[in-house]
Amino acid sequence: MLLCPENSGPELAKFAFAQVVSPMPQRKGRSGKAAPPKKDKPSRVGIVFLYENRTFVESTLVDQGEACAGFVNHTGGHEVYWERLQSAGEVPEDEPYESVPRGRVVFNQKTREYLLYLDRCIVKRAVIVRAIKAQLGLPAGSRTLILTDTHYRCSKCLDRG
Ligand SMILES: [Zn+2]
Repeated sequence: MLLCPENSGPELAKFAFAQVVSPMPQRKGRSGKAAPPKKDKPSRVGIVFLYENRTFVESTLVDQGEACAGFVNHTGGHEVYWERLQSAGEVPEDEPYESVPRGRVVFNQKTREYLLYLDRCIVKRAVIVRAIKAQLGLPAGSRTLILTDTHYRCSKCLDRG
């Protein structure tokens, strides 16, 4: 586990006050009872982009993330990751990262919850949200919270005000 630079505490502390869109519904078995817990793959923290129906995820195992102000974070940033995707020819060179729907998942060490911050354009697409959760190995049920944040708004969302 990495330790964070001292001055990034306040930056991460804002995660404690974001607005919860919805706790994910509990997964139900056919009997109506909660499905038995599966051996899920290890959960990760990271960043995501949604570009033309493709999700791009860069992530770190939770126990290798950066622990800071009660949260575990993936140290990589959207801008650098986007540049890498551009260099790899995955996304257009002329598309600025700020205009693309994006998000981040952090882990709250105190509540043991995963906070999945997503652009509204992603939140409204349940299939995409499920795919992102699967890619990151996030737990089903109430331990993963979907949130929005003014920080993660694409150009369409910003135009809507
Ligand atoms: Zn958007």
